Amino acid sequence: MIELSTPIEDVPNIGSAYHKKLKKLGIKTVQDLLFYFPLRYEDFSNIIPIKDIKVGEVACVQGRIIEIENTQTFKKYMTITEALVEDETGSIKALWFNQPFLTKSLKEDDFVCLAGKVTLSKNGVYLNNPVFEKISDIDDNPSTSLRASNLTHTGRIIPVYSETKGVSSKWLRYMIKPLLEYFFDKVGEILPEEILKKHKFLAVKEAIWQIHFPDSFEAADAAKARFSFEDLFLLQLSILKQRAKLMQKTALACAMDAKLMKEFTESLPFQLTDSQKQCSYQILKDLEKSVPMSRLLEGDVGSGKTVVATMAALSAVKNGYQVAFMAPTEILTSQHFKGISKMLEKFGTTIGYLTGKESFIYKAGKIQEIKKKDLLLELEFGQINILIGTHSLIQKTIKFSKLALVILDEQHRFGVSQRAQLIKDQKIIPHLLSMTATPIPRTLALTVYGDLDLSLIKEMPKNRKKIKTVIVDPKDRKAAYEFIQKEVRDGKGVFVICPKIGREENENSALPITGSFAVSNYNPSLFGVLEMKTVKQEYEKLSKEIFPDLRITMLHGKMKTEEKQRVMLDFKKGEIDILVSTSVVEVGVDVPRATVMMIEGAERFGLAQLHQFRGRVGRSDMQSYCFLFTTSPDQLNRKRLKALVDSDNGFELAQKDLEIRGPGQLYGAQQWGLPDVAMEGMLNIFLVEKTRTAAKEILEKDPELKGYPLLLEQLGQFKSKIHFE
Ligand code: ADP
Ligand code: MG
Repeated sequence: MIELSTPIEDVPNIGSAYHKKLKKLGIKTVQDLLFYFPLRYEDFSNIIPIKDIKVGEVACVQGRIIEIENTQTFKKYMTITEALVEDETGSIKALWFNQPFLTKSLKEDDFVCLAGKVTLSKNGVYLNNPVFEKISDIDDNPSTSLRASNLTHTGRIIPVYSETKGVSSKWLRYMIKPLLEYFFDKVGEILPEEILKKHKFLAVKEAIWQIHFPDSFEAADAAKARFSFEDLFLLQLSILKQRAKLMQKTALACAMDAKLMKEFTESLPFQLTDSQKQCSYQILKDLEKSVPMSRLLEGDVGSGKTVVATMAALSAVKNGYQVAFMAPTEILTSQHFKGISKMLEKFGTTIGYLTGKESFIYKAGKIQEIKKKDLLLELEFGQINILIGTHSLIQKTIKFSKLALVILDEQHRFGVSQRAQLIKDQKIIPHLLSMTATPIPRTLALTVYGDLDLSLIKEMPKNRKKIKTVIVDPKDRKAAYEFIQKEVRDGKGVFVICPKIGREENENSALPITGSFAVSNYNPSLFGVLEMKTVKQEYEKLSKEIFPDLRITMLHGKMKTEEKQRVMLDFKKGEIDILVSTSVVEVGVDVPRATVMMIEGAERFGLAQLHQFRGRVGRSDMQSYCFLFTTSPDQLNRKRLKALVDSDNGFELAQKDLEIRGPGQLYGAQQWGLPDVAMEGMLNIFLVEKTRTAAKEILEKDPELKGYPLLLEQLGQFKSKIHFE
């Protein structure tokens, strides 16, 4: 007895050979197969008389096979199966290539339905490799009465699925149809009655038919609309439930001290932008509450997020509480430690620094080394106000005495799950401020980060000049070097980015270290890459041949932490002219004196990543430049680089990236395991808002979903499928 939950290998005709292939498509049970929706449809619904077919069009005809035979082509490279099919109005040839086995299933006198392209050759008009279906099969089928038109592959709108080797759309149609006939009214309705009514959705048993074998394109759309809604609805429900749970927890309220904040902003060497002011106000207001804040601070590269976060930290410290500040790389962590210590110099703050390898303390205006053990003790006794570090900050061994606020830099992807780790089983939990430069459109933020409120820094500091971005032709390389020489003579700093450390390294070193998801799916081999520059080679070349007089240093992930930090500091101070680096400087690094970003092998990097690199310069009032070098002639690559030249706006670039590479790629849908329909739906703000409202309404009425057992069960399954990390 087959059930919806029956493993796919136990279904007759599937067996172990197919079951492995189906697993590749994510299909493990009968239910999964029924919910494996088509990508698109082909319209073979209009069966026409043979006399009416037109060359160049796709035609669907019905008739009797007059003759059928296999022939070998002249050079015996190929078998051609040729059939002559006749109806009351005329006859036509059908040709199939290299499918000699067809003559086993198609015989003279069989009544068939054929759909394919009408093609003209010197031997006349024929149907090219048509999809076929024997009508006699259909007559033998006892379930014919179920549907008036019981054709599966022809004579209707037919579904086309995403295929894998050995699993064709035809095979899927062949498998799905009978299962659907058997199960369609056994699929449980998870959408509440009132929602079905309100949105006039098809009931699930109708929708599941129509999505596979639609009576019309309208019916297919209606079915799709229902399932898109369903997926997003589940997503919203799970997010809102999580949020509701959070709202029941308590956080430490931090009263805002307006005078102190004014003092702080006046101590800065610049004026805050209006956006920075608005965002810090939103955050400081959230911190005043005793419900935990969950806020995403989003602002383009260089928009000045750190200072906003520092104000939040200061407010918590002023109230006698502690702050954890986490960044994804050691370089960034140490930069924040120094930068924030400096910003808070006048405010008597004690700041700890902790990575896997090192620990420091900033106290009374001085940075000192401290044993990790001692630092942790001071932390536990509340002597450290702010602890800055890498991910190692959220280990069980690290105990704060009064942690009120967690700040995550460049951590949009991890924020949610990391805090979940932090707050496990606790009654009092810290406020969360997550920061990102990744331009997440509002729709997506609402969906994926629906449990986070959004603060947006919309403008750049006023003193900035637009960075001049140029794709440099190989023949102009010399001129670029001369330009760099001149910049260095003026006391400016130069970055040279290469995709790899050295020859011996594997491909991975070219990948971003941050897991900025916009790039992690990026596949360089798409862009016809020829050679790959390495940091070591470029360093040798630049320091020996091109600029023997300049101070040049390497920077890459394989170097010791202290060494990396010393290099960064020297570069910042102006003791290094040119830094030849891998993508370790991708995010966050702030060296205002740097004015040139030269990127070798630009085709190797994703658009978002290139935008991040470019953001390493133009961080002062000096004119800055970004030089892109590429050896790839690939058009798609040209298009991406051109987009970078044309736009300095992260949001626009994300949009372009979306157009060039498609949504799944950009937002890493595969990584999150979000269903395709949900992904499509996400790009639709109306649907996102509709589902959000529906989810809110139902949770208000029934927070535990007790009245909706099927929905609750499905929600559990859905949650285990998506994983936000
Ligand atoms: P991001 O948003 O990329 O993290 P940062 O916080 O690192 O940017 O800030 C980039 C640079 O801009 C830093 O050197 C910072 O001191 C400076 N900065 C921040 N806000 C302003 C401002 N309002 N005016 C001028 N410079 C600013
Ligand atoms: Mg930053």
